[in-house]
Amino acid sequence: MSSETTPSPGSTKAQGFSTVAVHAGEARQKPGYAITDPIFCSATYTFEDTAAVLEYLDKKIPREEYGRYGNPTEKVVERKLAALEGGESAILFSTGMAAIATFLLAKLQAGDEIVLFDECYHRTREFCVKVLGRFGVVTHLVPACDYQKMEAVITPRTKLLISESPTNPHMSVVDLERFVALGRRHGIETAIDSTLATPYNLRPLDWGVDYVIHSCTKYLAGHNDILAGVLIGRADALEPVRKLRGVIGTISGPHTMYLLLRGLKTFALRMERHNQNGLAVAQFLASHPQIERVYYPGLPSHPYYEVARRTMRGFGGLVTFLVKDADAQQTARIVDALRLPRIGPSFGGVESLVEQPIIMSYHDFTPEQRRAVGIYDNMIRLSCGIEEPDDLIADLRQALEK
Ligand SMILES: *Cc1c(COP(=O)(O)O)cnc(C)c1O
Repeated sequence: MSSETTPSPGSTKAQGFSTVAVHAGEARQKPGYAITDPIFCSATYTFEDTAAVLEYLDKKIPREEYGRYGNPTEKVVERKLAALEGGESAILFSTGMAAIATFLLAKLQAGDEIVLFDECYHRTREFCVKVLGRFGVVTHLVPACDYQKMEAVITPRTKLLISESPTNPHMSVVDLERFVALGRRHGIETAIDSTLATPYNLRPLDWGVDYVIHSCTKYLAGHNDILAGVLIGRADALEPVRKLRGVIGTISGPHTMYLLLRGLKTFALRMERHNQNGLAVAQFLASHPQIERVYYPGLPSHPYYEVARRTMRGFGGLVTFLVKDADAQQTARIVDALRLPRIGPSFGGVESLVEQPIIMSYHDFTPEQRRAVGIYDNMIRLSCGIEEPDDLIADLRQALEK
C-alpha cells in the first residue's frame, strides 16, 4: 500500500508517518539551540531552594528529580513513540523484556490468570509461567490465533489476554477485531507485543487493543546497537507501571535513549525497505524449487494472508522458510554459505541476520518439544536488513545452489 498512513480504523493522524518519526515529541527550541536533543548524563537533578523542592512535590512544575524516575530525553522518546503508535502515553524501558516484566508485575497479583497465544517469545513465556507462577499468577497457553480455545480458558479471574502479532518465527497474524471483541465480551484487557509489525505496519490501539509493547531493540532503534523496550496505552492505565519502573529501576540509560531517538528519525524510511526486502525475498524463495515452505504474511499462500492484508500496511523483513528434503546439517550448510546475512539472534536492524531456530533459539528444547511448537530441523529464519533486495536474493541463490 502506498498511502502514508496505516490503514487502521479511527486514525485521525494529520501528519504522515515519516514526518511524525522525525518531529513528534520534540521541542522546537532545544538546549544550546541544538537541532538534536542532548544526552543528559545526570543521576540526580537539583533544586534552587527548599521552596522549589516543595513546589515540585506539589506537582506544580514538570521536571526531573532522580535518574531512576526519569530523564529529559526519555520524555522526548516516549512522546515520539506514543505519537507513532497513536497512543496517549508511553513508558520507556531498558529492554523489551523489562517492558513486559514491569508491565505484568504492575498489573497482576496472586490469584490472577492470564491467557497467552503459545507462539510467543520464549522469554515472555518463561517469565509468565516460571516467574509469575511463583507468585501465584496462573498462565494459560493456547494455540496461536485459536480464539475459541482462548475463550474456553477464560475465568472470572482472568485479567489479561496477551499475544504477539505477527508471531516469531511462524509469522501468524492475530485478527485484532476478534481478539479485542473477545476481551470486551468478558471485560478483560488486551495486550499485543507488536515488535515484528512496528507501528509502521500495524497500529493495534486503533483496533481497540489496550496495551502495545515493543522491543525497540529491533526495528524501532533499527541499528543492532542498543536494547530498549516500550509500553504504550492510556495514561491512566500506564500510571501504575510507571510507578513500578521507578521502584525497580527498569528505565533505559541516557546514551541508549539518545541512540533510540536518533534511530527513530529514519524509522519510516527503514521500514519501507525492510518491507520491500521481506516481500522480494519471500517471493523469490516461494518460487525456488529447493524451498518446501515460506512463512511470510505477505504471500497469498500464508494462512493469515487475508487478515494481514486487511490490517497491515506491510509485512516486515522477517522471512522464515523450510529447505526441501534437508536435514539439520544440510540446512546449516546453507546458513553457512550465506555471505551477506550474519549469523545471530535478533532482527530488525539495518544488517541482515540469519539463524537456524533449532540451533539458535530452541537449542534447549527436546526434538518433541520443538515439533510441538512447529520448529523443524530444516527451518531457517532470515531477517532482511536494508541492503539492496537484488543482493540479498543473489546471495540466497548462490547459497542454495552450493
Ligand atoms: C526481542 C523480543 C522481545 C524481547 O526484547 P529485548 O529487547 O531483547 O528484551 C520481546 N518480544 C519480541 C516479539 C521480541 O522479538
